This record gives sequence, structure tokens and C-alpha cells, in this order.
Amino acid sequence: MKKLIYLLIAFSMTLFSCRQSQDNPLLADFNTPFGAPPFDKIQNEHFMPAYEEAMRMHKAEIEAIVNQPETPDFANTIEAYDNAGELLSQISSIFGGLNGANTNPELQQIAKESTPLLTAHRNDIRFNEKLFDRIRQVFDKRNELNLNQEQTRLLEKVYDDFARNGAALPENQRNELKEINQRISMVSLQLSQNLLAENNGFKLIIDNKDDLAGLPEDVISAAAEEARSAGHEEKWVFTLAKPSWTPFLQFSQRRDLREKLYRAYTMRGNNNNENDNKALFTELISLRQKMAELLGYENYAEYFISDQMAGTPKNVYDFLYQVWEPALAKAIGERNEMQAIIDRENGDFKLESWDWWYYAEKVRTEKYNLNGDELKPYFTLDNVRNGIFTLTNNLYGLTFIHRQEVPVYHPEVQAYEVLDKNGSHLGLLYIDPHPRPGKRSGAWCGTYRSGSWKNGEKIAPIVTIVMNFTRPAGDQPALLSWDETTTFFHEFGHALHNLFANGHYKRTSRSVPRDFVELPSQILENWAGEPELLKKYALHYKTGEPIPDELILKLTNSKYFNQGFDNVEYLAAAILDLDWHTGIITTATDVNEFEKATLDRIGMIPEIVPRYRTTNFGHIFGSGYAAGYYVYRWAGVLDADAFYAFKESGDLYNQELASKFRKFILAENALWEGMEAYVKFRGHEPSIEPFLERSGLK
Ligand SMILES: [Zn+2]
Repeated sequence: MKKLIYLLIAFSMTLFSCRQSQDNPLLADFNTPFGAPPFDKIQNEHFMPAYEEAMRMHKAEIEAIVNQPETPDFANTIEAYDNAGELLSQISSIFGGLNGANTNPELQQIAKESTPLLTAHRNDIRFNEKLFDRIRQVFDKRNELNLNQEQTRLLEKVYDDFARNGAALPENQRNELKEINQRISMVSLQLSQNLLAENNGFKLIIDNKDDLAGLPEDVISAAAEEARSAGHEEKWVFTLAKPSWTPFLQFSQRRDLREKLYRAYTMRGNNNNENDNKALFTELISLRQKMAELLGYENYAEYFISDQMAGTPKNVYDFLYQVWEPALAKAIGERNEMQAIIDRENGDFKLESWDWWYYAEKVRTEKYNLNGDELKPYFTLDNVRNGIFTLTNNLYGLTFIHRQEVPVYHPEVQAYEVLDKNGSHLGLLYIDPHPRPGKRSGAWCGTYRSGSWKNGEKIAPIVTIVMNFTRPAGDQPALLSWDETTTFFHEFGHALHNLFANGHYKRTSRSVPRDFVELPSQILENWAGEPELLKKYALHYKTGEPIPDELILKLTNSKYFNQGFDNVEYLAAAILDLDWHTGIITTATDVNEFEKATLDRIGMIPEIVPRYRTTNFGHIFGSGYAAGYYVYRWAGVLDADAFYAFKESGDLYNQELASKFRKFILAENALWEGMEAYVKFRGHEPSIEPFLERSGLK
């Protein structure tokens, strides 16, 4: 329906855009089941004209807000601003979805062409002074407007978005901020490029077969393949990419080569060569500090975290230290256990950081004895999907109907209609399981259309989850690893969040803080390993027998493996990130001294190196995770505590809890701030105990 309205506007604007929209499916009424994107009709060449048209329309909508003669009020300014640009969001969603899951050189070229246009378009709006002036006028009289809770939040968020970009500053400071921002983007780009060069600049080349001692066959053949593609025939190459260096550290019996490879890995960007990141990083930190001060914050961490669930850097520090202490104690225990193996084998040396993976593997075999291949026959793709369908049916009463009439962009993609408890249509869900050229790596959840309200009517969301799971081989179905299985549950959690979102406004219903967003996804992973559910979905693909108790026990125990190391390595990086962005360490004169001061302060043991060191900490080079690397464990504490509520109740599918979780955590993000929502669900703030228990840290 909304397409028609746009067509009318387009028609009234120019004849050209009308003619164009008639044969461009992106600009026409989709006329498909559930309003799904017409993937069967969309061609690459439709995107650029559609983008141009959508930007033109968005711009016209903004102009209309700015140039109207009426006094600014909530409806004519805030609501109108939130409604604007709907066609552009739709086209961006479809393009982004396809470019991630099923790209080709032409789409990549379109991405290159459209990205700068879209950035300029957004900047024009973000720095539109007249627009901000109207927003501010509404904001200043917010107490007299009789707004409801959701409208008040929308107004505050919209105002904040502009203010956090500096719109409220006097002109000279605004200009200063623009310059700082420009320099920040240059510096962070350079940091990333240097890191990439460092990643690619090192190769461990092995030409003597004896130096491969201990390595499994598949690792050796991958290294031979790597060598061939690098032009080293009859040799083996190991690189600083994770899938290459990790198994080398786990299995290579050559201690000296492990050291060489791991040193190269941890020293990336810190080699005093043309790719050195030390000076650049220090510059980045001082630019961010200046930026934060201009915007009225004490430091960059204060600025970033003020908008997050955690609220203040102090809250994040308190949280990190709470996990740090037991994690460090656990890691020391793990170290001692490994040293005992070295001593037993008459190794006559002290465990070093490059030995950790190797001896951890020995501990894994001795203590946990879990072989991934034993598990796989129970976890076919269909089994796991059915397990998730069963889970969401038990929790929320959902049902899923395969809809073959819905157009898809690749024959492997399946479209499901999702029905709510009462049988009403909740949304559409695509599942795209396997890798192929043209799909980027990893797993993710996205939307082709976000849920929204229009004139009192709910527009149902169209959600997609995209993964790169093992394919079927021969007559064997797709057998998923445990990691793939939990990833499927994880992404499905994001999908539920998108399906249930129930806000009236784009800005408030579709965005949650970074330290909240992984709660809906991670909590679902907890159910994946629950014996009660496993017995229902993990059925052997040949015999149909449910997974035996003995395997379930091994699976449960293996969760505790290497948890001290895993947490210490991560937390040290998270604390380092926060130290940099709060400026807490004032005595250091360079990057290496700074790092040392941080690690000394928290009592880091020398056998563990932070997961990222400053000069190769890609997460914090850009703005995404700067002062925000903590969010992963933060969400871990939330999901463990939230899941514990179900366990504690004695009913994994407790209906009262499920309906509160759906309401406060998944559906009503437009109404509540993160912690507020959590307390409404749980009755109190999250406790760290369930997380510590789950990770074997207590
Ligand atoms: Zn996620």
C-alpha cells in the first residue's frame, strides 16, 4: 500500500520518475505474497536509479519539513522526520541484504558508487541547521506537549542524535568538530590499512616436512594450498589469519616455530616499520578526547557509554573487575595444570604464551575427551531448525509454514511465514543456510522490511538469517558442528527480536544499544544444550535415535574447557580499551608503556597476551567498538542471568517469564531504556553469578 502513495508523490514530482518507476520493480508496488521483495524481478541495473529516486524523495520530504510555515510541533517535525526516507530504507535493506548474501561484481560496483552518495545524503540531513532548529524548538517545549511515553522517547532520541553529532554547538566549535571527525576517519582508515598490511606481510614458510610434526592432515593440506596460491610449490605456508595460526599453535610440536608465529601475530602494527600503528593510535586517542570534550564529556568513554545500557565507564569497570578476579584465578589454575604436563614430560621449561594452545589441547583430550565428529550425526540442519521451531513454539506459541510461493534470491533460500500464538500473521522469515561464492563469511540476521505501524495498521517485518553452514555431502545430509548449531540458535534469537519489535516509530523501535543487542540472540544458545530439548531434536540421521546421555554429559562438561584463558584474554583487551578511552593511565609516554601499565595494574600473568594488543585492536580503530569492546561479556552476563530465571523456575518454557521476556526485551524497545527493560523482565538488575557458574569461574 505504501508503495502506491510513493508512486503518487513521484508522479506529481516529475514525469521522468514516474515512467522509470513503471519498469523498475524496486519503485513499483511489489504485488507479491506478504509484500516480499520481488527477487524474481529485481535486476542489478534497477538499484542505482532506485537509490537516486529514493534519495530525491527523502530530500524532498526533509525540505517539506523545513520549509513549512507552521510552528514546529511534534507531528509536523519529529514524527515527519521519523517517517521520512522510508523508500530509501527499503531499497537500502534489499540492496544490503543481497550484497551480503548473494553478491556479484556488478552489485559490488554499485556498492562502491552508492556508498559515498548515501554518506553525503545522510550528512546533508544530519548537518541541516534549519532542521535541527525546528527539532530543538520542539524539544525545548517538550513538557507542554502532552506526549505519551513512546513519543517522549522519540523526541529525546532524535534531539540526542543531532546533539551527539555536535549540532547544538556554536558555529566555530561545530567547524572544529567537523575537522576532528575528518581527521579521525583518516586516521582510523590508516590504522586498519596498516593492520591489513601487517596481517598479509608475514608468512611462516616451511620447506622441511619434519617441521610439520604434530599437525593434523587437514591442517597440512590447507597449508600446502596456501603455499601453492602464494607461489611456493612443494612448501607449506602458515599465515596470521586465525584459521591458519590457531591450529598451528594447537598442534605443532615445534616450540620454536610456535613462538615465531605467535610473536608475529601479537606484534602486528608494533614493528617500527612503515605499518607501525603506535603514533597513529595515540593521535586517534587524543582526537577522540578532544571530540568528547567539545561535546561536553569528560572523556570518550563517558561519551560512548552514556548512550549504552551500562551508562558510565565506572559501571563497566566494576563489571569487568568482577569477572576479572575469578577468571584470573581460574587461568592461573589452568596454567599450573599445563605446567604439570610439561614437567611430567620432562620438558624442563616454563610455559610461555605460545605454548598455551598446545598444552590446552592436551588438557582437552585428557579431561574432556569430546570428539566433534561423534556429535555431528545428531545435528542435521533440518534437526536443528526443527529444534528451534519447537523451542519457539514452546516459549511463544509460534508456528512456521514453508511458503514456496514467496520469491527468493537463490534456490537454497527457504521462506517461512511466521504465525503468532493466536494464528495471526507475525512476519516472514528467510533462512539461507549454506556458503557459496558471493556470500560473505560468518552468520547474521537482517531485515528486508522492519516491522512498523502505518495509520493504525501493523506492517509485518520481513527478516532473514544468513549462515555459512556445512553442506550436505553425497547422500549424507548437512551435518552441523556444535558451533554451527549454537550459531543457528543465536541468529534465530536476533530474528525473534526483529519479528516481535512493536514500536510505532523507526528511531525507537528498531535500535537498541550495542550492549543490549546480543541478549536476545545469546539467550537462545542456552536452550540448544539443554538435555530436555536435545532429546527432542538431536536425533541420529540414520537411526532416528536421540542423542545418548553420555554424549550430552561430555558436551556439558566441555563448556568449562579453557574458560580461565578465554575470559582473561578477552577481559584484558576490554580493560585496555577502556583505559585508553578514559585516559586513566597518565604516566605512560608511549603505547607499549601504556599497555604494560594497564596489565601491571590488573595483575596480568605473562603466559597470556590480551586478545588484541593496542596496535592490532581493529575493533577500536573505528567508532563501532571504541570504549565498547566490553559489550560481548556484558551481554553474556545478561543472557546467563535471564536464562537462569527459566532454570530457577523449574520450567524451561515458563510461560509467565516467556511472555515478560517477549514484552520487555524483544517487543517494547521503543518504550524502555535497556536496564529499565531488563529489570521489568527480571524483577532486579542482572546478577553476575549465573555467568560465573556457567563458565566454571566459581
Ligand atoms: Zn549476534
